[in-house]
Amino acid sequence: MKTAIEGGWVVAFGKEGHEVFQNGTVVYEYDRVVHAGSEFAGEVDARLDARGMLVSPGFINTHIHPVGNGGDYLLMDNIKNDYRTANYLSFSAPLKGKFAPPAPENMAALRLFVLLHALRHGSTTIIDVGGFPGEWETYARQIESVGLRVYAGPAFRDRNTFTDEQGRIYYEENAEAGRQGLEKAAAFIREFDGAADGLLRGIMLPAQVETCTEPLLRAAKEQAQKLDVPVHTHAGGNLLKFQRILQEYRKTPIAFLADIGFLDSRTLLGHAVFTTAHPWTLYPFGDDLRLLAESGATVGHCPYKYVKMAIILRSLEQYLQAGIPMAIGTDSYPMDMVSEMRWASMLAKVADGNYQAGRPRDVFNAATLGGCGFLARDELGRLAPGSKADIVMIRLEHMGTGAFRDPIKALVEYGAGRDVDTVIVNGKTLIEKGAAINLDEEKIYNEACRAVEGYWANVPNWHWAGQDVDSMIPPAFPIHEAAAANH
Ligand SMILES: [Zn+2]
Repeated sequence: MKTAIEGGWVVAFGKEGHEVFQNGTVVYEYDRVVHAGSEFAGEVDARLDARGMLVSPGFINTHIHPVGNGGDYLLMDNIKNDYRTANYLSFSAPLKGKFAPPAPENMAALRLFVLLHALRHGSTTIIDVGGFPGEWETYARQIESVGLRVYAGPAFRDRNTFTDEQGRIYYEENAEAGRQGLEKAAAFIREFDGAADGLLRGIMLPAQVETCTEPLLRAAKEQAQKLDVPVHTHAGGNLLKFQRILQEYRKTPIAFLADIGFLDSRTLLGHAVFTTAHPWTLYPFGDDLRLLAESGATVGHCPYKYVKMAIILRSLEQYLQAGIPMAIGTDSYPMDMVSEMRWASMLAKVADGNYQAGRPRDVFNAATLGGCGFLARDELGRLAPGSKADIVMIRLEHMGTGAFRDPIKALVEYGAGRDVDTVIVNGKTLIEKGAAINLDEEKIYNEACRAVEGYWANVPNWHWAGQDVDSMIPPAFPIHEAAAANH
């Protein structure tokens, strides 16, 4: 069955990259695009009206934690007083033995919400960079029911993070846990790579460069090569961790990873903000950007999460000019790739004091083609004959935008994920008129909220000073429950 999407601004992939066709046409048959660009001469079986919309390749979101970040998404502002903005340490360094992982049904509720939330805001492929492991059968079924592409695996490490009674972070080595974690990750990939009708794919996830010893990182990369899957780790995401690696190896995290052979074209690095190029590191020795570019590793840039911590990449323009493959991820909420492109674009200008930096062209490329290299998936991130029918239709012509000549600039400068009208993955329509076709959104949302309340209620049990969420992170104004909720 051939379906034609007609009348919109079509982003088709030409010889040199993306090109835009006003009043263009995309035709797909089953899971593949058969035509993208100007008029289509052949017969079609169905037509979709895209007037007033951008018809774009689906976005590849390179940084999502579907479960681990469950509790922190509304709490991102005030929690950075400790640990020099390492927000993950605020949540992942409990008193030893006091943290119990969320119940399986709560994890499942959050995962389902996150999958749908990301899809609805334009992501057709997401990289799940780790959280609480397990429940993979359920996860595979959820991915199938939501319908987007997910790269996932059990994250592992051989250094656990804890706080003592005075709130001081310490790392505790456990080589056996690392060895078992790696084994489980390989077993997961062997069992689940290609599950959920091919939507679920494996990725090797040594959690963070400072929570994995050198032997574990080397073994993880080796195993990823053997299994022919991509590998991800968090690196240079925080000054504290940058300093830790410097102390341990007398090298920056990037130089260390380059030296142990971890970086190549199948490697995705989360953040890579603190490098020799960032002024806060006060470390002008060597050239991390050159090392990154030479290695071919992709940097997964998450500008919104970082600017909330008063941190910006220095800078998108410099990374691009150095020749580093750049991709975009959302990390925390909202998992909205359209807004994320705007943050990437605007912050690139601020970083360099250059209003010509952060071009819409560059951030759109990062959100689409940027995710394809380390995945080794040339059929994603573009609309051309033979590419996967992963298509997003975004409303552009409405009162929220205004008059425009260039739909890509309009999208980056005025758009939002909430303007996403239709999402098609593998040739299947999943979102129509901004809502899921086959899922009960209200139920999924409510169950996720209940699961997160469970996370919050658990905080005093593991927090070093026994604080609850509201005393740890006071609300903007006092919040009172004025009347008992009537549901
Ligand atoms: Zn992360």
